[in-house]
Amino acid sequence: MDNSELTKWSNRATEWSQEYLDTLRDRPVRSQVSPGDIAAQLPTHAPEQAEDMELIFSDFERIVPDGMTHWQHPRFFAYFPSNASPASMVAEQLANAISAQCMLWQTSPAATEIEGVMINWLRDALGLAPHFTGVIQDSATSSTLSAVLTMRERAMDWRGITSGTSGEKPPRIYASAQTHSSIDKACWVAGIGQDNLVKIPTDANFSMQPDALRAAIAQDRADGFIPAGVVICVGGTSIGASDNVAEIIKIARDEGLYTHVDAAWAGSAMICPEFRAIWDGVDGADSIVFNPHKWLGAQFDCSVQFLADPAQQLRTLGLRPDYLQTLGQAEVTNYNEWTIPLGRRFRALKLWFLMRAYGLEGLRSRIRNHVAWVQELEAKLAADPDFTITTHSRLSLFTFQYTPKGGDADALSRQLLQMVNDDGRIYLTQTVHKGKFVIRMTAGQFDCTREDVMSVYDVLKDLAAQL
Ligand SMILES: *Cc1c(COP(=O)(O)O)cnc(C)c1O
Repeated sequence: MDNSELTKWSNRATEWSQEYLDTLRDRPVRSQVSPGDIAAQLPTHAPEQAEDMELIFSDFERIVPDGMTHWQHPRFFAYFPSNASPASMVAEQLANAISAQCMLWQTSPAATEIEGVMINWLRDALGLAPHFTGVIQDSATSSTLSAVLTMRERAMDWRGITSGTSGEKPPRIYASAQTHSSIDKACWVAGIGQDNLVKIPTDANFSMQPDALRAAIAQDRADGFIPAGVVICVGGTSIGASDNVAEIIKIARDEGLYTHVDAAWAGSAMICPEFRAIWDGVDGADSIVFNPHKWLGAQFDCSVQFLADPAQQLRTLGLRPDYLQTLGQAEVTNYNEWTIPLGRRFRALKLWFLMRAYGLEGLRSRIRNHVAWVQELEAKLAADPDFTITTHSRLSLFTFQYTPKGGDADALSRQLLQMVNDDGRIYLTQTVHKGKFVIRMTAGQFDCTREDVMSVYDVLKDLAAQL
């Protein structure tokens, strides 16, 4: 296939996409295939000779859609959403056609400059203070790793990047037990190690206990460790828990520690002023991550890291070899120096399309609706004697158990969840909370309606009656 056929096949793909999205409600949300089913349909070796696009496309239609879990399905209530708004899809098509490697200003002036402006738009949209600047990364995991490496280097006065970490006093990172596993992984990869990630106990609201943090830092100093940074949770993955941001940042500042706020999911909701209380005090943070690719509507991947003082991360990651010098342009922004990978995609384009095509008001009303509908569903389940709410709605996430009289709530909840996902009308996932197997409910798909959210109740009742 060559360029002369691009319009034909792109149009075919676009028509397929429109039809797919329009008819998603007719498909089971979670893929119903078994492990190995898809691989078994593919030949073992790559073809030696070119194949016909007609055949390739028909194999795609035959094999792929039923082999996928449909993240854009309006009744996808599992994990967290991963929204792809149509305007964002169009922007990605254009970015694909240009396919630039946006590592330097010189290799991608428009991508670099639009990225800078989008960071400012988002900072203001989230109500963050004007001193923040930032960078687009692929995922929150990468943003958090960048922050943890900066914590390490800052604590070691940047000796790690020259002579390595062996023989140094171990840096210590603090986080609550509600934080995401990406913090653990960052500590593994940064050479800090799981043992030097100190999980601080949480209070009745599942927020980090400030006194316990203070005590842990003091103990570590006494024991010869170097306290380096605190990762603060805003909207944790399990039940949506948040730390007391202002109080934790104050302690970290008093102790000279670097702070990173993980608001990967909840950050999108901060475009609505009425939800911002959960991160009060966030303007004191050194680094903040949120994923527009979760709830906002820019499809995967698109994670934004805000930085109060980018110089510290640039000193940690900003390697500039001779062949990447931009001659005569020492002052331009070269975003590769802000992140771990050198190569970067043109991710800012979809943010530009997204915010213009829906407006911040359009995006806010979606998020407000999701939160309101989830609260309505929670109230309906709470009123039903067969269900128990195990954690209340935090933004658009709550958890519950199936607790009919006389049954084993863990086993029954597990069974019901399995039936729900085999049934396919909706898709829910689970977590373990305070030792109990609980079902998570979160709404946030771009096109989901109140009826979609309320259908969860009907599906649960319908299937529970068969248990
Ligand atoms: C989803 C999530 C992450 C991980 O995000 P990726 O972009 O997939 O790396 C980290 N922290 C929280 C709180 C999350 O919700």
